[in-house]
Amino acid sequence: MSNLVTFLTESAWADGEHIAVRQDDRVLTYAQLNDTSARIATLLRAKGVRPGDRVALVMPNVTDFLVAYYGILRFGGIAVPMNPLWKAREIAFALQDSGAAIVLAFPPFGYEAAKAAAETGVECLITDATFDALMQATEPVPEVADRAQDDTAVILYTSGTTGAPKGAALTHHNLMTNAVTAAETLLHVGPNDVLFGGLPMFHAFGQTCALNTAVATGATLSLLQRFQPDKALEIMHRDRVTIFLGVPTMYTALLGAGVPDDYDLSGLRLAVSGGASLPVEVLHNFEREFGVTVLEGYGLSETSPVASFNLPDRPRKAGSIGLPIRGVELKLVADDGTTAGPGEVGEIAIRGENVMKGYWSRPDATAEAIRDGWFHSGDLARADEDGYYFIVDRKKDLIIRGGYNVYPREIEEVLYEHPDVAEAAVVGVPHEVHGEEVAAVVALRDGAQATAEQIRDHVRQRVAAYKYPRIVTFAEALPKGATGKILKREIVVSQETPED
Ligand code: AMP
Repeated sequence: MSNLVTFLTESAWADGEHIAVRQDDRVLTYAQLNDTSARIATLLRAKGVRPGDRVALVMPNVTDFLVAYYGILRFGGIAVPMNPLWKAREIAFALQDSGAAIVLAFPPFGYEAAKAAAETGVECLITDATFDALMQATEPVPEVADRAQDDTAVILYTSGTTGAPKGAALTHHNLMTNAVTAAETLLHVGPNDVLFGGLPMFHAFGQTCALNTAVATGATLSLLQRFQPDKALEIMHRDRVTIFLGVPTMYTALLGAGVPDDYDLSGLRLAVSGGASLPVEVLHNFEREFGVTVLEGYGLSETSPVASFNLPDRPRKAGSIGLPIRGVELKLVADDGTTAGPGEVGEIAIRGENVMKGYWSRPDATAEAIRDGWFHSGDLARADEDGYYFIVDRKKDLIIRGGYNVYPREIEEVLYEHPDVAEAAVVGVPHEVHGEEVAAVVALRDGAQATAEQIRDHVRQRVAAYKYPRIVTFAEALPKGATGKILKREIVVSQETPED
């Protein structure tokens, strides 16, 4: 029973006619998803792929992603989903690193995948939009390969806390318990729920909290191939989405777009944020506009991903990542390696059934990240007297100005309180005297007129003098990764650093 694909076989058994996934006019019931994924398993086996082999997936959020994902797991293969926006070089790296036997790619992204596959000598199958052609000649295989609890099910590439991309090897047990815990104790999902599927499924957040949580409970996943706020609102209305899941930039984008008058979003009962800090101002605005509670959680690819959450049966604390979830422990490690005291800042360490087995074929990186059974996250936090955790920042985003610590997140919160600010990021830039200077890059709301001085003064009036951004520059939008997280490393601040 420890194969992730049993989520699918059991939901198909319970109600095969129920819709598993909808992507515009493409709809698959549980019976159809189960049958087509079994055919893919047969096809891969016929191609010589064996249990334990890695099968790469280069696909956006399309129904074929689900078919391929569960097809690979069914015969005991290891799924290696990749960002479909990667270039051949990045795909080739992950193909080689994981030792992939074959790559399945969706047509618009097939070119880069095929190039990478040719370079690395891996077979590449370009699927047509429905896998139909591939499936003509294959018979479904009903049996599901039995897997040990700690057999790797999925490898997720992440840059981790430091350095080059590494594959987080997640076991069937890791992924199953995280999805079941999310379904039972965090989101209370049932077959009548419709989960928003706009987070990329190749990433841990979308894969566990939307895809596997939906399939584990026989709910429906409403897929969106690429997040665009207007389209997101349209499918939330059309499919009567009950649970919205998103990263903070999706929340700001939805607020910016506004809900058309003739849309009915009354079915929406819960919104979940994760992947990056949700500014408190954005949380409150969203709750007011959409009439729904927003619960923030925290986690990483390496932790399947959910580690903490604002549990629905406990008081919700805005700005907090909540409490450890069932089966998971958190602690804060101070610089000297001791456990940080109440109110003190420390690095979040995580232990529990969600923690990966290790980085795929990287024993050194694994030993560095997992010490004495605790996974070290690289994120700094403090806890309050009720045990709720508050992210202070990522360790590596900390700015040290003239010997003082400035946590960008604190300044970003203040920036979001300015009515003209749509998006904001704070980064450190080198400075001769102070070592680093605090710089803010801001995207203004449509039609807003605020000047750099006004934005700077807004922050100066609210924080200690060493913290406010001496440099404020504007951008149309901030650079974002495929999950929608703001990419701080790609922010270039061109303005000269001032003297003071
Ligand atoms: P990934 O492996 O891509 O899921 O990225 C994990 C990282 O996302 C963590 O190490 C955190 O830095 C960040 N993250 C996830 N959830 C939150 C949150 N609620 N608040 C702040 N940062 C978060």
